[in-house]
Amino acid sequence: MGLVGFHRAFLRSIFKRVHAFPLDHHGIVSKVLFMKYISTRGDIDPVGFKQAVMMGLARDGGLLLPEAIPDVTERLQEWASLSYTELAFEVMNLFTDLPENDLKAVIEKSYSTFRDDEITPLVEVGGVHILELFHGPTLAFKDLALQFLGNLFEYILEEEDQYMNIIGATSGDTGSAAIYGVRGMERIKIFVMHPDGLVSPVQKAQMTSVLDDNVFNLAVDGTFDDCQAILKELFNDLEFKDKHSLGSINSINWARILAQIVYYFYAGLQAMKKSGSETVRFSVPTGNFGDIFAGYIASRMGLPVSKLILATNENDILARFFNSGRYYMDSVNATISPSMDIQIASNFERYLYYWLGEDSAKLKVLMEKFAETGDIAVELGGKDSVDSLFTAGSGDAQATLATIKQFYTDYSYLLDPHTAVGVYVGLQDKGDDPLICLSTAHPAKFGGAIKDALGQDKAYHPVLAALSGLPMHCESLPNSVSAVREYVEQRVD
Ligand SMILES: *Cc1c(COP(=O)(O)O)cnc(C)c1O
Repeated sequence: MGLVGFHRAFLRSIFKRVHAFPLDHHGIVSKVLFMKYISTRGDIDPVGFKQAVMMGLARDGGLLLPEAIPDVTERLQEWASLSYTELAFEVMNLFTDLPENDLKAVIEKSYSTFRDDEITPLVEVGGVHILELFHGPTLAFKDLALQFLGNLFEYILEEEDQYMNIIGATSGDTGSAAIYGVRGMERIKIFVMHPDGLVSPVQKAQMTSVLDDNVFNLAVDGTFDDCQAILKELFNDLEFKDKHSLGSINSINWARILAQIVYYFYAGLQAMKKSGSETVRFSVPTGNFGDIFAGYIASRMGLPVSKLILATNENDILARFFNSGRYYMDSVNATISPSMDIQIASNFERYLYYWLGEDSAKLKVLMEKFAETGDIAVELGGKDSVDSLFTAGSGDAQATLATIKQFYTDYSYLLDPHTAVGVYVGLQDKGDDPLICLSTAHPAKFGGAIKDALGQDKAYHPVLAALSGLPMHCESLPNSVSAVREYVEQRVD
């Protein structure tokens, strides 16, 4: 390490302990203490928050991360009595460069669309705390991040008098949440790819019934991973990206992770207060590793998390990684929790970067090897898991349906199949501290699974019932980068 590097690491270590304000890229404490963002691959100059939000994927192909993680341990007591939006402001203000009143306004607007006053209520059912994240416009947890991101985009674009074309890929829930996040906005066009025939009828209806003329739905003849690969390729084509001001709504966008950090604090502090426990566990149904990664950051910020329980369905690449250190690609299975039918988790690179001690060079070697062979491994160094903060497991269709049935029979509470996977895996963990299970969707979004579990479709939500019979609009495209590129090019200015 050179002198500058040492100086930087030294300052950083002090600041982590004191209050972890970011350093600028010369390692000097800026007078204006705004967080800067770096790439996991290490090949871009640090950028500010707004730039990071507009960039989506880092220009060197990596993912953006804050240069330092603030330590908020000293503030937890005070934070425990804040409302959701007050807490959101405190958390987000540490990472953003918006004037405080503007940030407050964006937050207020984003969560005013939720149907519950608490935004994310925490309810106790059968000895676990269910964190209901489905009270937003599209009834999935993705609204928490995408209502915020849509309003943030609009704010930045207006301030800079710019326009943006969003391209996204969805396994079902991201698409509708993103579309509801930006529908009708004048400075934004949104193109959303979904795997044709692999999203639920309700999910498809939610997306394609939005007829605003800034919204384009594309049914791609392939899997979600194919859609995500097309997306990555379009974003890595820097000429195309710049020419059309491409923006990203996938969970590679840091602002999404940021919005999700908030509810870990909200629920964690509430459960600790209620139970008198000094630590909490979270169980998170996981696909792209976005949601649970937000929990990982919350923990690094000082929220006392004893366990992050990673729950997957039959697509268990991540569970296998945490149990064995080996990360290898398999084919994607279609399951009854389709929003987790993912093999390559786009946020995993962010975690791996921290696991490797923030070493971009090492990370690059691993990611390049993974791109080539689809198979990498990390050394466990004699330990029996990759990270003692995590435990990981998976729940198959049978376990999912049995859990839905048990919770309905015993507690008259309906779990959606994704949440049921998290509850099932969470209950295998034998900790004593409160178990918070993230409930990622309203059960009515997945009526088929509810019917399979209970013999009857008991799930109902008026918002979804109102979709039937509405006109829909969607375009079918082959599984090809050039087809999608052409489609977009013909429709942007
Ligand atoms: C997206 C989604 C998940 C997975 O979240 P990740 O951030 O991709 O891990 C789980 N459940 C539901 C209902 C979802 O929509």
